[in-house]
Amino acid sequence: MRSKIQILPDDIALTIAAGEVIERPASVVKELLENSLDAGAQDISIDITDGGLGQIAIYDNGEGVPYSEIEMPFIRFATSKMHRDLYLSGVSTLGFRGEALPSIAAVAHVEMVSKVAQDDVAGRVEISQGKIIRKERTGAPLGTSVVVRSLFSNVPARLKFLKSVGVETNHITQVVVPYVLGRPDVRFSLNIDGKLKLNSPGTGRALDAVRSVYGVDKAAQFLSFEFELPDQIWLSGLVSDPSVTAGNRNGIVTLVNGRSVKNRNLQFAVESAFHGVLKERRYPIAMINIGLPLSNVDVNVHPAKAEIKFSQQDVVFDSVKAAIRQALTNVPIATPVVSRVPRTITVGQASRSEEVATANLFADSHDQSHNPDSKPSLEDRLPVLRVVGQIASCYLVAEGYQGMYLIDQHAAHERVWFEKLRAMINAKDLEIQGLLEPIVIEVPELFEEAMGIHQSLLKKYGFDCEPFGSNTYVLRGVPLILGNLDPRELFLNAVYGIGSGQSGEPDQDALIKTLACHGSVRAGQKLSVAEMQELLRDLESSPNFRTCPHGRPTVLSFDVAFIEKQFGRR
Ligand code: ADP
Ligand code: MG
Repeated sequence: MRSKIQILPDDIALTIAAGEVIERPASVVKELLENSLDAGAQDISIDITDGGLGQIAIYDNGEGVPYSEIEMPFIRFATSKMHRDLYLSGVSTLGFRGEALPSIAAVAHVEMVSKVAQDDVAGRVEISQGKIIRKERTGAPLGTSVVVRSLFSNVPARLKFLKSVGVETNHITQVVVPYVLGRPDVRFSLNIDGKLKLNSPGTGRALDAVRSVYGVDKAAQFLSFEFELPDQIWLSGLVSDPSVTAGNRNGIVTLVNGRSVKNRNLQFAVESAFHGVLKERRYPIAMINIGLPLSNVDVNVHPAKAEIKFSQQDVVFDSVKAAIRQALTNVPIATPVVSRVPRTITVGQASRSEEVATANLFADSHDQSHNPDSKPSLEDRLPVLRVVGQIASCYLVAEGYQGMYLIDQHAAHERVWFEKLRAMINAKDLEIQGLLEPIVIEVPELFEEAMGIHQSLLKKYGFDCEPFGSNTYVLRGVPLILGNLDPRELFLNAVYGIGSGQSGEPDQDALIKTLACHGSVRAGQKLSVAEMQELLRDLESSPNFRTCPHGRPTVLSFDVAFIEKQFGRR
């Protein structure tokens, strides 16, 4: 009689295990790409058809596999990347489990051709659903090519879970892009259904790789940074200037010791560095290369090696944030590229509809237009500005050593107040101004619950208040620096700020934004020269001076050379 409990036959065991490693076509691309990089390839080209279900082919010029061992890579747990002390000394290669090729071969038809420098001929092996069907000598250049067809044809359940060709192709691109950005020393090309989608030059310069992915225009607006804590962490990377943003987080690419990883905490660190700089629901584009001592990273927490764990999570988080913050605040201010200049300016025509210039630098990435012959010139920071005047009761005109500056008075003031308020609140330095007469204020029912939970927060923000019956509060004092505003309106704005944080914690920065916005000079308010001067001085010394807390630009600059050109003097 057959025993009740049996050991799974190899082929079944392998197909089951393959499911963990190879989830979709993009997983195949990831494994093959990582193998090519581990083989030291300097040139990698990838061809995809039908979202990977037609064919996935990869060619590299790496060290190759000798003919005598050509079928070895397809045996489970066969690897040339033995790391005896996975946990003590860490893993320096991208692969280490010896599972990828056997897993792919278990659920597809695979052909590998490879040649090493020492051999005269190449080897070719063909494997289908785990069985070797051909092995022969052949001619081929140095390196390895792997072609995968009929993926998941023996796993119909998997096929059913795949999305459209477009979605699968997109997953594939997202596997390739981080490596293109993170390994500028390698030439990559990605062909999708016969069209060249991506082509990086392999010059070793990060910016060249960024150009190949995001285009020349956008690449010009990336800021590079480096950061190091000796023996602990070293970082380098590029982040988009706040004017170039994305609608989702896919543009945030993180590599740890050369491995592309998705780590929620890293993403969060990047986002928090941009906090208060970007508009809501816009995300930065960033590539961050993080180097850590190998033993401080656990790469073996996921079968597809997509996740990792850090032993010093806080160091990593804080360093990423600090490095990006630094890049953003030392940012040079670029002269806008003017895209539309009216040929004739009719005197007396409303200047608003005339739209003299569109500042490329500060425009959202969607609506950028580019004028190739006006190059942005760079200045290190906002220079000392001399007030010239105010126009449309809304913008200040100023002169700096490079030319003319236009400042949006409300946006600029909002930034200044936001930074001041935040500094005071963090330093617990916010003075309260008592009201001559306490005011009784009814709070909309909607905010009652949030008020119940977060009332103490209002104290921290300088509001002296206490409950006074249902939905009602008595207000005795307001923040001194906002003391000249209508206390009732100010208080209600703070309450809205608290209530708007979705479930749970209110967003404290959002609350400060509300207060800063409320306390700022409005568009339409006439300012004296002294007031304008004060605003400019404050803005010059304000961190993140280039945008208001909601992400709108505060300053446009027009350098003299540009103005001369427009007047035909050059
Ligand atoms: P791992 O990468 O974890 O070692 P794989 O199954 O991905 O496991 O690959 C098995 C082995 O096959 C590798 O260790 C390597 O020796 C060899 N190999 C796979 N792809 C390539 C390649 N493109 N160039 C050279 N050798 C390769
Ligand atoms: Mg591998």
